Amino acid sequence: MERSGVRKYDCGEWVVQRVAWTELNAGGRFFGCVNGRNGCNYFRWFDPPVCDNARGVICGLLRRIKEHEDELERLKMEHMNELQAVKRTSNWFKYVVFVVVFLFASLIM
Ligand SMILES: [Zn+2]
Repeated sequence: MERSGVRKYDCGEWVVQRVAWTELNAGGRFFGCVNGRNGCNYFRWFDPPVCDNARGVICGLLRRIKEHEDELERLKMEHMNELQAVKRTSNWFKYVVFVVVFLFASLIM
């Protein structure tokens, strides 16, 4: 849910405007008690109901965003795993170079 600064008064607490992101009411703005269900549970829609077509478009876009976020998370994990493998290989390579240089120096002295 997203907040913005509309201020009204109810039950001694602020009433705030929020945006619903449920499948049924995606993008619909409403006023609600700042404490939600823990407060007086005040609730009133600000926007009229969204038509089925717009709701379908919004839900489709939300699903695509979720898919892209999941893909991004998967790629981040893959990247982290590859980075760790490169670091391990790099450390191993440094060790081998050190040993070779040490042995070579021992031989010529
Ligand atoms: Zn309230």
